[in-house]
Amino acid sequence: MGRIPQHFIDELIARTDIVELIGGRVPLKKSGREYKACCPFHAEKTPSFWVSPDKQFYHCFGCGKHGTALGFLMDHDHMAFPEAVEELATRLGLEVPHEGGVDRSAQRADEPLYELMARVAHFYTEQLAREPRAREYLAKRGLTAATCERFAIGYAPDSWNELLRRFGASDGERKRLSEAGLIIERERGAGREGEHYYDRFRDRVMFPIRDARGRVIAFGGRVIDAGEPKYLNSPETVLFHKGRELYGLYETRRARRNLDRLVVVEGYMDAVSLHQAGVEYAVATLGTATTAEHFRRIFRLVPAVVFAFDGDRAGRAAAWRALQQALPEAREGREIRFLFLPQGQDPDTLILAEGRSAFEERLALAVPLSEYLVRELSEQGDLGSADGRARFAEQARPLFARVPEGVYRELLLERLAQVVGLSAARLEALWSTGKSDAPAASAPARPSAAARPARGAGRGSLVRQAIVRLLHFPAIAPEVTAAERAGLDASEEPGAALLRELLDDLRARPAQIPAQVIQRWAGHKDSETLQKLLGREEVITGAAAATEELRAALLKLADQAAGRRLEALEAKSRSGSLAADEIEEFQRLIERLSHRDARGG
Ligand SMILES: [Zn+2]
Repeated sequence: MGRIPQHFIDELIARTDIVELIGGRVPLKKSGREYKACCPFHAEKTPSFWVSPDKQFYHCFGCGKHGTALGFLMDHDHMAFPEAVEELATRLGLEVPHEGGVDRSAQRADEPLYELMARVAHFYTEQLAREPRAREYLAKRGLTAATCERFAIGYAPDSWNELLRRFGASDGERKRLSEAGLIIERERGAGREGEHYYDRFRDRVMFPIRDARGRVIAFGGRVIDAGEPKYLNSPETVLFHKGRELYGLYETRRARRNLDRLVVVEGYMDAVSLHQAGVEYAVATLGTATTAEHFRRIFRLVPAVVFAFDGDRAGRAAAWRALQQALPEAREGREIRFLFLPQGQDPDTLILAEGRSAFEERLALAVPLSEYLVRELSEQGDLGSADGRARFAEQARPLFARVPEGVYRELLLERLAQVVGLSAARLEALWSTGKSDAPAASAPARPSAAARPARGAGRGSLVRQAIVRLLHFPAIAPEVTAAERAGLDASEEPGAALLRELLDDLRARPAQIPAQVIQRWAGHKDSETLQKLLGREEVITGAAAATEELRAALLKLADQAAGRRLEALEAKSRSGSLAADEIEEFQRLIERLSHRDARGG
């Protein structure tokens, strides 16, 4: 994907009404110039969540959450940035441009495919209404009509060319059907004249697979009676990459406002049954092992995930593969656990038999990743013998090496060392001199000191006053003269560097509303500081007064810096002599500060 140009994001922020956007999700009440509600991000009885139409910004005084319309979609609806951009653009009827141009045309070319998939999904749901056998099958599996509707479950008729007939009248249409993976090309010579293709899905219950925005990108089909294969998925297409998608994610996001964990199961029937029973945070991998990409998607949304696998051999093998993919993602603050169901049970049958609370009790008892790792490796040998422990250490080593540096890694090392009966330091030393061809585990590094939060301006300080005015009235930045801006260069006040950067940015790229500034600075190291200042500080005056206040603050900062420089030169002149240019500077500073005194500053 090409980069989304900044001017487009500016436009989205300027044209979106944050009150309407949030108001569609949270009941807002007008209060003065702003709107308030009970915070959707933390539990509370009296409202401390405020939405400002002037700033196009929301802020919670309870939990400190804040952000722009884009930030809200990312935090509240768990969207990734490009999805949130798409969502706002769709609301405004705009097409998202991408720099580079190539992807733009690719995206446009995909558009009819999405439409085609939507029409086919609708066709399948219509067919379900006409096919009692399919409906009886779903009823027998315990699915209600409401659940079928929620997941848009349908039926592909028992025909080799029904889809072709309805959706593939022209060569172009057949090409699209083939690109979407809905029809299959025959071997050359097979079939009658004109029958080059046949329907991929025939006599199957159809589960549309939707992307995060709810667009149908693929289908999974299950046979009704006996037949092979039991499950058939769409092939990889331009829309569908199965190693990336999680079935049920769209429905999960729609069902749950505050998502704190996901359950990952293996089949779509499992995911649908769990949702129906009230476990509305279940998603399924699509006939593929859990991939690194899955993990990245999961942890962008939630800090905790439980894998529920069947208790049989295949389930255990799948769990072990998932563990290996999980190791690079393991770190403090994340929870990765594994639930093994009783032999012969899967989540679908179990939830029907036991109900939601019993299933959630099982989830609560799921085994943490580290314990699962220890348990699996322990079973390979006798830990009572020195040989067995050595073997354990050898097998654990390449797995441990995949865990990133950090607290979690150190805790895991300690746990593994405990099992082997060595100190953590000893085990690590052993590993680093060992002869295995796995990458040696390096010593855990301390977190870098560079990650410290930037020093913000003190409450009420001149720097803070200036930043707050710029944030609330970004359009006033070009009013600052070059001389006023230059006076800030020598300032060493806390936060002066941030003020300089913000001022320069806004003079170069003028912004009209606060949220535009926040959105542009997203990802900057001082982004949080700016959001807090915008959320918590109020500027009662209008833009004209704010301009005067900003200029006054800049002037005072320049004076302060001049005063400090003067003191330094004075001190130097007492202990020695000043160079010619220093004497000149000294005189300029005296001049400047006497003017200040005349101003009464
Ligand atoms: Zn809150």
